[in-house]
Amino acid sequence: MAKIQMKTPLVEMDGDEMTRIIWKMIKEQLLFPYIDLKTEYYDLGLENRDRTDDRVTVESAEATKKYGVAVKCATITPNAQRVEEYKLKEMWKSPNGTIRAILDGTVFRAPILVRGIEPFVSTWKKPITIARHAYGDVYKASETVAPKGARAEIVVTDENGTEMRTLIHDFASGAGIVQGMHNIDGSIESFARSCFNYALSTGQDLWFATKDTISKKYDHRFKDIFAEIYEAEYKAKFKEKGIEYFYTLIDDAVARVIRSEGGFIWACKNYDGDVMSDMVATAFGSLAMMTSVLVSPDGIYEYEAAHGTVQRHYYAHLKGQQTSTNSMATLFAWTGALRKRGELDGIEELSAFADKLETAAIRTIEDGVMTKDLFLLSKAENKRAVDTEAFILAVRDNLEKLL
Ligand code: NAP
Ligand code: MG
Repeated sequence: MAKIQMKTPLVEMDGDEMTRIIWKMIKEQLLFPYIDLKTEYYDLGLENRDRTDDRVTVESAEATKKYGVAVKCATITPNAQRVEEYKLKEMWKSPNGTIRAILDGTVFRAPILVRGIEPFVSTWKKPITIARHAYGDVYKASETVAPKGARAEIVVTDENGTEMRTLIHDFASGAGIVQGMHNIDGSIESFARSCFNYALSTGQDLWFATKDTISKKYDHRFKDIFAEIYEAEYKAKFKEKGIEYFYTLIDDAVARVIRSEGGFIWACKNYDGDVMSDMVATAFGSLAMMTSVLVSPDGIYEYEAAHGTVQRHYYAHLKGQQTSTNSMATLFAWTGALRKRGELDGIEELSAFADKLETAAIRTIEDGVMTKDLFLLSKAENKRAVDTEAFILAVRDNLEKLL
């Protein structure tokens, strides 16, 4: 079979530890034999970030803006221990944070569903994709302790020096705590557009929820901005695509999500998304089966796995021990990016290949061949736990049957 040709390169962001090992295996076993893979390669491995004073991260994000589609390997976010371990010049910032800030994007996380690994919520039949607004609110809040007798106010001073004061609380009868938080219309607008675009791109309904009945100015602003952008820019497109935008209260959303069969995008404010994404990921089974895509408001896509670099497995691997690391989410990052590249460049063969590779991977697990993390969860009858590489080779066997 002739290799599939690409037009525009994918931006390839390599990463760290066990996922870096998997990255190479996926390319060698599942991509190179079938695609004349064109990528613009950026090494976001921690050593190279340190060597380049983290410029490589910024350059990879700029390249993503230029080409429109990127695929990223998991990377170490340095902490004090990593600074020591890698003798870093600085405690470099999270690459994902840097890339997200440059692309102004929203992260969408969705589980990969396979037969035999049933969600804990029995009604869930299709993936629930969570979109988390990753700016502001409690994550950029200022807080303080208020002593007894204090009076706390919100003071907003406009550019002419005029003060607007709102009483928060009079602590006359006892000490307490105060928190001030903010968000920005522009950030909420970008979030809304990323969500509406992703709903159109994937053909799924979009749900959004806040606590606007209690928070009549703050949360209400989120509700209004979504509604205005939907009316002005997306209503007609949603109708044409046969999908819906649905707004409700956050409590009602939670109740409906549990009763639903899935298959929609749930847009969440920052804190809701932080909490709910952990709940949804766990309820679907495994972090190793969670995909993630960063979508900018102007339609730029960066695909990755939701999990980290699987450090514990990497250290075992370095000691020469056998590992059983699940490559599904990293593989689906590649297929997501290849499919999108195929769509944008009009290369049907490339998108079809991505579909087949996903089918082959899912079939491998459904046939009972899986890594240890899934072996513990799976109800498949002939299930068998295999090592990291054996799983990828089993996917290749199944892929060959589909080509
Ligand atoms: P992690 O890499 O997600 O792994 C945590 C644990 O989850 C693993 O030890 C393993 O459990 C299980 N696991 C995760 N992915 C798996 C997979 N593909 N196959 C099998 N098991 C899997 O989180 P971490 O160990 O807390 O973080 C390691 C590094 O990743 C950190 O330096 C962090 O900064 C980075 N990180 C990066 C990203 C990103 O780039 N998007 C996201 C999160 C964390 P068992 O050990 O029980 O087998
Ligand atoms: Mg969380």
